[in-house]
Amino acid sequence: MVNFAGTDFRDKSVIVTGGGKGIGRATCLAFANAGAKVLCADLDDPAGADVVAAASGLSGEIVYQHADVSTAAACKGLVDWAVANWGGVDVLINNVGIQPLNSYLPAHELPEEMWDRIINVNLKSGFLMTKYAAPVMTERGGGVIINTASVQGLQSAKGIAPYAASKGGMLSLTRQLALEYAADNIRVLAVNPGTIETPLAAAGTGNDYEKLRQEGAAAHPMGRIGKPEEIASVMLFLASDSASFMTGEFVNVDGGMMAKGAWAE
Ligand code: NAP
Repeated sequence: MVNFAGTDFRDKSVIVTGGGKGIGRATCLAFANAGAKVLCADLDDPAGADVVAAASGLSGEIVYQHADVSTAAACKGLVDWAVANWGGVDVLINNVGIQPLNSYLPAHELPEEMWDRIINVNLKSGFLMTKYAAPVMTERGGGVIINTASVQGLQSAKGIAPYAASKGGMLSLTRQLALEYAADNIRVLAVNPGTIETPLAAAGTGNDYEKLRQEGAAAHPMGRIGKPEEIASVMLFLASDSASFMTGEFVNVDGGMMAKGAWAE
């Protein structure tokens, strides 16, 4: 279970989108372990129930809500719930992301609906959640927004136009929001994971996790892929007062992949 020396999120209200599985799940548990009240938003109800159960015995708590965060109504509903039940929102983790296997196509073959879906889930959700959460954070005297982008927002590969555009957009949105809300004491940051052992990544190897670990290892100078907890611990640090002078910045958590610069793939 992730914990980070000096992090104490008791009485803090945290929303994590796509919190049912993978990186989001580990992030929900990391914040609950640090004492926070965590609202986990996801589409996968059994996974949501599982993350709630996994938090039993931790000092904080996790509440699950079914929410499609690509829609304004769902995003507003999550923020409204946190305000009504926990008095506000202190930390927003815009983590949700999809990369459907049938989206790996050159742009001219990609259905427009697939482009819209990926951009709406991966990028627009970050805008919508911020639209409703930022005023609430301002009222409370500040907050932290962390966006899960990707190394694929910095360098790209063939066949991932909407995913790469959504992640590049997330990095740009991070800088933009940081400037807009710096005077309101809202810090906005992004994390760029390398390949992380999650259901999303495992879909690419037919849910064969051993194959994912073996195939992914070569791309990362550390010789292995990452674990969801290794992203969650960075989220926890960025949201903590230990990172109090950081905003508008991204952190690569990729086992050294981006250090390869133009050779990263
Ligand atoms: P994951 O294992 O697929 O978990 C994401 C969760 O989000 C799933 O439970 C999914 O439910 C849910 N979700 C999908 N669409 C949603 C929506 N519209 N509203 C609410 N919830 C929704 O993903 P992950 O690998 O942990 O990825 C988390 C983030 O990290 C994403 O932004 C991803 O792009 C980014 N990332 C991941 C990697 C990696 O290697 N894993 C690398 C770089 C960046 P369903 O399964 O039911 O759709």
